[in-house]
Amino acid sequence: MQAIRGMNDVLPDEATQWEQLEDTLRDWLSTYGYRPIRMPLVEQTALFTRAIGAVTDIVEKEMYSFEDRLNGEQLTLRPEGTAGCVRAALQHNLLYDGPKRLWYQGPMFRHERPQKGRSRQFHQVGVEALGFGGPDIDAELILMCQRLWDDLGLTDIRLELNSLGQSEERQQHRLALIGYLESHAARLDADAQRRLHSNPLRILDSKNPEMQEIVEGAPKLMDYLGTDSLKHFEGLQVLLKDAGIPYRINPRLVRGLDYYNLTVIEWVTDSLGAQGTVCAGGRYDGLFAQLGGKPQPACGFAMGIERLLMLWQGSGGKVIAPAPDVYVVHQGEAAQRFAFRVAEGMRDNGYTVQLHCGGGSFKSQMKRADASGAALAVIIGDDEAAASEVTLKPLRQATGQRRVAYDQLAEAIGELLFEWEDENGGI
Ligand code: ATP
Ligand code: MG
Repeated sequence: MQAIRGMNDVLPDEATQWEQLEDTLRDWLSTYGYRPIRMPLVEQTALFTRAIGAVTDIVEKEMYSFEDRLNGEQLTLRPEGTAGCVRAALQHNLLYDGPKRLWYQGPMFRHERPQKGRSRQFHQVGVEALGFGGPDIDAELILMCQRLWDDLGLTDIRLELNSLGQSEERQQHRLALIGYLESHAARLDADAQRRLHSNPLRILDSKNPEMQEIVEGAPKLMDYLGTDSLKHFEGLQVLLKDAGIPYRINPRLVRGLDYYNLTVIEWVTDSLGAQGTVCAGGRYDGLFAQLGGKPQPACGFAMGIERLLMLWQGSGGKVIAPAPDVYVVHQGEAAQRFAFRVAEGMRDNGYTVQLHCGGGSFKSQMKRADASGAALAVIIGDDEAAASEVTLKPLRQATGQRRVAYDQLAEAIGELLFEWEDENGGI
């Protein structure tokens, strides 16, 4: 049997990199005071159609939806995390004592064509600042992304910004846009024809090269924004300039989800080919009310972990191959029993230990010890076991092997590891 197309296994070498990246992400998020939240992978379909919008790629084409056979409920594997996060905040009245900074990570599901940087089960880190209305939090979210790129040593990544204004402003723009697009109706592709009246703004997001010229000439939403919207956008830009973060205003950045207003952001790179958006988000002040709650301003972003990982790998991200400190080889029944005690004793002392399992000659066991990358081998035969001693053999140093009493082993290992790390300039 094979894994489902577009749903990938992450094998141990790569999974180790994931963990290293996740460690970095956790540290980074806590630096800014964001707290974790975990939502279910499955929600009612209606949550996503309401939150994301019925006329969007996700809801129209990409959702894994199904009926629960036992009770007929319409359910969907989450295609993104914001809707579930806001649903959880409402359900548990999380904002009762003020705004909240939250983050989550995990798999998301979209039925798209799998290709480099695009899969059907993919993973996101999502960051949501709930209950904050000002451009200050928009700026914080951007600054924190910049810090992450710096922490990871990523340089080929740039910020694109736009403001979608408020819905009345979009309404005015929409009328002008529909008029413009109707006058070019013959040149619209099938998607655009279909969206002309249901969701014309989304046409500006078209990836079809043949649509680009029409899109370029379309009325710009920015020209329809009122004073407050412009002030919000201006406030954000002042803070970005203070922080020295370069950005480009991209009037065509409208994002593929309906819930955004005012600020929208994308971090893009040229290093990943067509799938160049690493992180995307924006403000969604209307979503709480749309899901039936008391209105709350909010802003957030999500980054694709797979794409981030590819960028990190491409920029020479340091990957520390994990190796145990000690590999224990043993032969004989008494030796095996003693080996278990020795291994546990070393773990008590904080060392990472791989105990050989499965038997075999000393020679074949030593090959495994070497392949494990361990710095030291502990060798135990029945005679060592009888004497409560082990043979300690450095695997990566010229130093020869020697017998060590069990109760002096932890100290002897400590000294050898210290020497070894010293010679190698630390691990
Ligand atoms: P795209 O334009 O690439 O389809 P999107 O606008 O649909 O992206 P969002 O919904 O904003 O993406 O999701 C945020 C981030 O999640 C993206 O910037 C990307 O890094 C990642 N992402 C989205 N869809 C996928 C996918 N199918 N496979 C891998 N990563 C994805
Ligand atoms: Mg998409």
